[in-house]
Amino acid sequence: MSKKYVYMFSEGNASMKNTLGGKGANLAEMTLLGLPIPQGFTITTEACTEYNQGGKKLTDDMIAQIDAALANLEEIAGKKLGDPENPLLVSVRSGARASMPGMMDTVLNLGLNDISVEGLAKKTGNARFAYDSYRRFIMMFSDVVIGVSKSKFERKFDEYKEKVGVEVDTELSGEQLKEVSEIFKALYKEDQGVDFPQEPKQQMLESAMAVFRSWDNPRAFVYRRMNDIPYEWGTAVNIQMMVFGNMGDNSGTGVAFTRNAATGDKAMLGEYLINAQGEDVVAGVRTPLPIARLAEDMPAVYDEFMMLSNKLENHYKDMQDMEFTVEEGTLYFLQTRNGKRTAPAALKIAVDLVEEGMITKEEAVMKVDPRQLDQLLHPAFDQAALDAAESIGKGLPASPGAAAGKVCFTAEDAKAVAEAGERCILVRLETSPEDIEGMAAAQGILTVRGGMTSHAAVVARGMGTCCVSGCEEIKMNEEEKTFTLAGHTFAEGDYISLDGSTGKIYGEDIHTVDPEISGDFGTFMAWADEIRSLKVRTNADTPHDARVAIDFGAEGIGLTRTEHMFFEGDRIMKFRKMILAETVEEREVALAGIEPFQKQDFKGIYEAMLERPVTIRLLDPPLHEFMPHTDEEFEALAAETGKTVEELKVKATSLHELNPMMGHRGCRLAVSYPEIAKMQAKAIIEAAVEVSIEKGIEIVPEIMVPLVGEVKELRFVKNIVVETAKEVMAAKGKELKFLVGTMIEIPRAALTADQVATEAEFFSFGTNDLTQMTFGLSRDDAGRILSDYIDANIYEVDPTARLDRTGVGALMQMAVEKALPVRSDIHLGICGEHGGDPSSVEFCHIIGLDYVSCSPYRVPIARLAAAQAQLTDPRETRKH
Ligand code: PEP
Ligand code: MG
Repeated sequence: MSKKYVYMFSEGNASMKNTLGGKGANLAEMTLLGLPIPQGFTITTEACTEYNQGGKKLTDDMIAQIDAALANLEEIAGKKLGDPENPLLVSVRSGARASMPGMMDTVLNLGLNDISVEGLAKKTGNARFAYDSYRRFIMMFSDVVIGVSKSKFERKFDEYKEKVGVEVDTELSGEQLKEVSEIFKALYKEDQGVDFPQEPKQQMLESAMAVFRSWDNPRAFVYRRMNDIPYEWGTAVNIQMMVFGNMGDNSGTGVAFTRNAATGDKAMLGEYLINAQGEDVVAGVRTPLPIARLAEDMPAVYDEFMMLSNKLENHYKDMQDMEFTVEEGTLYFLQTRNGKRTAPAALKIAVDLVEEGMITKEEAVMKVDPRQLDQLLHPAFDQAALDAAESIGKGLPASPGAAAGKVCFTAEDAKAVAEAGERCILVRLETSPEDIEGMAAAQGILTVRGGMTSHAAVVARGMGTCCVSGCEEIKMNEEEKTFTLAGHTFAEGDYISLDGSTGKIYGEDIHTVDPEISGDFGTFMAWADEIRSLKVRTNADTPHDARVAIDFGAEGIGLTRTEHMFFEGDRIMKFRKMILAETVEEREVALAGIEPFQKQDFKGIYEAMLERPVTIRLLDPPLHEFMPHTDEEFEALAAETGKTVEELKVKATSLHELNPMMGHRGCRLAVSYPEIAKMQAKAIIEAAVEVSIEKGIEIVPEIMVPLVGEVKELRFVKNIVVETAKEVMAAKGKELKFLVGTMIEIPRAALTADQVATEAEFFSFGTNDLTQMTFGLSRDDAGRILSDYIDANIYEVDPTARLDRTGVGALMQMAVEKALPVRSDIHLGICGEHGGDPSSVEFCHIIGLDYVSCSPYRVPIARLAAAQAQLTDPRETRKH
């Protein structure tokens, strides 16, 4: 039997997302539930993949299955595609597994041509409607399928409206819209050199192929990258019988969420337009009415809508985002999906659904994307500064948060300002999907048009970017790059501030502060903590970072980079003296000057962490990073050391390395200069002894040796540490347990982990270096190379951000498997950047690490990712 590429809606269900895409699976499920759904069929995601990989062709088998499904649909609808008397019209829409709002293409009103449009006009007795549909179809088909830009049609349309003296589309008569469709066809012919295609079946196949190709468009690439959606998923195509919201004042179309997508409140949030088609709402072309108004305009439709949307929420056990159309007083649902929401809304909805008895805590924990928690850590306005500021206007509070920055008028400008390290606000008439990179780069987004469900609002909420939309008082001058609001004119580069929670706009730069964490967040994270077995530590170099991390739920420190402590104030001078010392004695004197600072830093960290585990790493980076650069720096150092600038420069040159990342760093420094390791070990142990005594606790320091590739290196450094510790404890009269372990960040350490484990009491995977060295790709230069690799689709994601399970991960797994038989109680963690990335956290859980360690602000993300890894682990629950 041949492969099934096409499913009628009545053949699928919600569990078939991988095959039918989210939209197709939900349309099938709603059909099963008996909701009023215009019927249709879905071409599978697999067909998309085969199309895109197979020379961009539909196979005969696919076409035959599409034909059969169409015949079936014609039977259900009682009308035929292209019929001159009573034509069936369909929509052709994309639908990937994960929703990608506005990223891919859609064609509506397909099936119209010069003849069937007349049939439609006669059959409905509504020529205005028929020609409105036709002119929309010509424009969408030309834009999406053929690539004739929509703006060319819009310009012609505006010219025509001006000529006949109307402002809004709905004032045009049928005759006039017929003229518009003639003008559009002429434009098409002029652009393409051929007549606008008249054969409906061909129109349909061409449109389906255009949707498949849209999976390959640049904005879809950007969106997938931002949302971790793999390329090989592909998109399905849904071909669905059209129902019409543009048939007059008893018709309309809208979008609604069963709960408030910005706050999570349990109240329907929706908007609709009378006498319009779906794209008018989503594109934000006209500003719509709130859903509550539907209760007055069409009470029976409103009641049915509320009843059915409630049914959908109960069925999916989640907040639903629905599109609906009313055709001459009859309600239809066009789609439903779990709605996108802000992080505070996600938490509130998850907690509320548990309290309402709809879902379990485990189900709640699976509902929030860990990366979204990042939004909770975004800034809010400083209250005093906000109170002192005066708002100059107000739009819709489309996506919460606070933003202040320089006004930019295009996505490119926003990107450029952000790349220059400055904050910006993207101000647009309305946003389109092409703006996505500029939206991501901006602190905030302000639009003149569009409602709460416009593209700008939906995308901004997904990204956690503050957005105020639909501020229609703004007079925009895109050409001059200025806008005027409440008598103030703002030019490019002027500062404004936006409050995404109230919709208020301010004509000044208002100071922002870190946000407070809500009660729902605490409740939710406590559930995640009950579930996970993987522990979460933090990378922290200062007592302040350590305290922030504890507030975010860190259970210990997985990495203190001691080198970061040497950049402050006059410490750098002392450190430079140490580096440029010519003899051991000179170096020891310089080190003695540094030791009190080190000890003080460590005491501060222990005081913050108390008995929580703390891993401190010995000096790691290449010494040239600390070298003086400017003449003034050399002169200051010369004055301090009594050497000449010349002498110091000669020494500095002698330390220069061609490839410092693979040079004199890590444990190699301790091999060359054992006195450095000795000083650090002394400071670590003394600090631990003193704080243990002062606080009446037992601190167990974990001393970590970086960049080990050979067990003898570790043994060498460990001997220094152990000897020093013994001396310190004898002098202080207090015994303390301490651990010595190593980072696994050189492939050879992973390959010989059984040997390394004979000396190491713990391993911490330094996946920044391990990735660098496994790929042979310099950390310092990777950015530019990787962006080419990602553009060329060689890597789908950046392996420095998300752990490469196949290569780097295989080394990690091998190291774990080799180490455990040698030392069954070896403690295993990760402290590379990957420790805060959800997919990498999952991998760490799978290979049986004890903990992950990440920067303080990512600790909540890692806690949730660890809980989700536990819940999706098919093996028996394993407690570490
Ligand atoms: C690592 O290499 O993963 C690591 C944590 O060390 P650093 O980034 O300091 O080299
Ligand atoms: Mg490293």
